[in-house]
Amino acid sequence: MASGVITVPSFATDEDGVEHFFGTRLSSVSVTPGRVTPIHSRHRDRVATVMVSVRQVHGTDVLIVDQPIRQGDSFEGGWDALVTNQPGVMVTVRTADCVPVLMHDPAQRVVAAVHAGWRGAVAGIVPKTVALLVSRFGATVEGLRMAIGPSAGPCCYEVDEPVLARLRVVFPEWRAVVKPGGAQKAYLDLREFVRRQGLADGLQAERIVTVNACTICHPDLFLSYRREGVVTSTMVSGIALMSHH
Ligand SMILES: [Zn+2]
Repeated sequence: MASGVITVPSFATDEDGVEHFFGTRLSSVSVTPGRVTPIHSRHRDRVATVMVSVRQVHGTDVLIVDQPIRQGDSFEGGWDALVTNQPGVMVTVRTADCVPVLMHDPAQRVVAAVHAGWRGAVAGIVPKTVALLVSRFGATVEGLRMAIGPSAGPCCYEVDEPVLARLRVVFPEWRAVVKPGGAQKAYLDLREFVRRQGLADGLQAERIVTVNACTICHPDLFLSYRREGVVTSTMVSGIALMSHH
């Protein structure tokens, strides 16, 4: 549906009836936080028709879209994960160093898009979304697929002691996702942290795929708050169940 985006093969098989993408700075997708906006596509009969984007607050609240929504509908509030079982509705997140995470349960036909910065990840936004897919939609962790998108990588993402202190409290395996940095600092592998959270929840390793691309390393491809200080836009990632499958 858009050029300049990254997709993963395990989410792109046609028979699954799901459409997804991770944004880059080259992609043409734009959204309005809080609003449901139309998608213009040449394949309108088969793909999502509207996309929803919300204000993100680095928290752990999940917006559930389990009713039909239309262009012009609005969502006032802040959420860092969106879940829908509505075909044709693309749930999106915006990132520029934080980790975009997409999930799909092919059996129960439900998808999720998650915005996971260090705050949200440490606070458990990914496990919380997984738990909700299971409890509310009947998904199974064994059947769930997860794709972890481009973000600040362990090559560049230096964090300080307050971040590490929080990480150590919630994640006993924390040593596996950090390596030494400067004084009182370390490089954090946020994508690997998210992946291990998925594994700890019971997801199958072969059903989790990570796009190992660093937003800070690749100014040609990605926007990065860390590198650019200020970014005038963000990269949009999204996933939808196809309308007619
Ligand atoms: Zn890097």
